Amino acid sequence: MDNRYRPVIGLEIHVQLNTKTKAFCDCSAEVFDLEPNSSICPVCTGQPGALPVPSHEMFELGIKIASALNCHINLYSRFDRKNYFYPDLPKGYQITQFFHPLSERGWLEVDGKKIRITRIHLEEDAGKLLHSGDNITKSDYSLVDMNRCGVPLAEIVTEPDIESPEQARIFMEKLRTILRYIGVSTGDMEKGAMRCDANISVVDTITGKQSNKVEVKNMNSFKFVEKALEYEFDRIVQLMENGQEVERETRGWNLTTKSTVSMRSKEESHDYRYFPEPDIPPVVLDSEYVEKIKNSLPELPDDRLRRFVNDYKLSEKDAWTLVEDKKIADFFEEVVKQTKEPKETANWFLTELFRMISEHGEDKIHINPTHFVELFQLMRDGKISRNMAKDIFQESALSGKMPSEIVKEKGLEQVDDTKLIEDIAKKVIEAHPKEVEGFKNGKEGLFGFFVGQVMKETKGKANPKTVNEILNKFLRGV
Ligand SMILES: [Zn+2]
Repeated sequence: MDNRYRPVIGLEIHVQLNTKTKAFCDCSAEVFDLEPNSSICPVCTGQPGALPVPSHEMFELGIKIASALNCHINLYSRFDRKNYFYPDLPKGYQITQFFHPLSERGWLEVDGKKIRITRIHLEEDAGKLLHSGDNITKSDYSLVDMNRCGVPLAEIVTEPDIESPEQARIFMEKLRTILRYIGVSTGDMEKGAMRCDANISVVDTITGKQSNKVEVKNMNSFKFVEKALEYEFDRIVQLMENGQEVERETRGWNLTTKSTVSMRSKEESHDYRYFPEPDIPPVVLDSEYVEKIKNSLPELPDDRLRRFVNDYKLSEKDAWTLVEDKKIADFFEEVVKQTKEPKETANWFLTELFRMISEHGEDKIHINPTHFVELFQLMRDGKISRNMAKDIFQESALSGKMPSEIVKEKGLEQVDDTKLIEDIAKKVIEAHPKEVEGFKNGKEGLFGFFVGQVMKETKGKANPKTVNEILNKFLRGV
């Protein structure tokens, strides 16, 4: 595909807030994997006469997200009813913020570009339907689980500033990192704690014509966000090239066919008959309260990235790999504090530690800063080679044993005894007169052969640097 067509993408992201209680009642909001209909009450199941009371914590977490995404926070916000019928919505309406959202006009930087955030508002989640059989159309019956009814959500809406499916994925990944840093959500897309709807249209850069917007749903992983948008972009371009109309509709990503399928024509906001929620008075926030929450935010990933690049002299790519997971970044800083060697520590994290984690899982790794300190010291003292250090690191990580202990137990100590290595080198040279002659006649490559022989005699324990020095002296006279 040439560059004639350009995608225009905007995202709507629902984030489940990890508050203790639901948005408007005292039911527990931790409902994942819970027995169906075990965390419900008259409020969240919409019984007549039950009155909703907004949760303070929901506002606190909402303000945190809005601040982290550089949004303006409205001190006056209000709830509204979004009316529609679906069996997982017992009230027949969702409580959301349509007219007066909690916050507006922010941004998140991705690839050096500021993606504008239109608004972030608070609302409640709906329940879940469980269909018998494989899919809804072949299902004999469906069951309703109302545990999720009333779980608080923050909906983050972006401007259509995203320029590629890949950028949409990176935006989502970065957003998740931020949400985890500020501790407002697990951000697990696979568990529905973060859900993404995307709208995409395509501009023909030659005619300037822009297609209708298509909304894509059901993308429950970062990879699928990218894949679904790639598919949809190609589909729309195809229609435009054929001179066909692009329907304004909602399409769902189908995991099995790896394509999007039409779900319904796109609804407009007036279809929902929004009106102010009469049971909840407007919420007026105190500016000092908002400031206090803003100031309680930890260092954000982008700030930490800059600090890692500046203070530890890491490349941006390496720094981000360490920063992305807060737990890893915290641990890295703890280790660096003790080793005082950020570059070397980063190398061990990015190669050995990450490999160990992906092979064995985080909970099997028992390593602490002193392991690194000792390992580095053993290498500096020439007691172990870098290769030996890797093996020792592995064992340390899995057993929690100190590196010095492992060295002692296994008799791994590197041989750095000059006299001993000299004796071995002499013997090796005497035993290979032909190779010596060859080397003296210019076969430089044979030098490696002698190093190899000496290493073999010492069972790999000789310090390679010392071996090289001694052989240089004997064979080259330097
Ligand atoms: Zn409830």
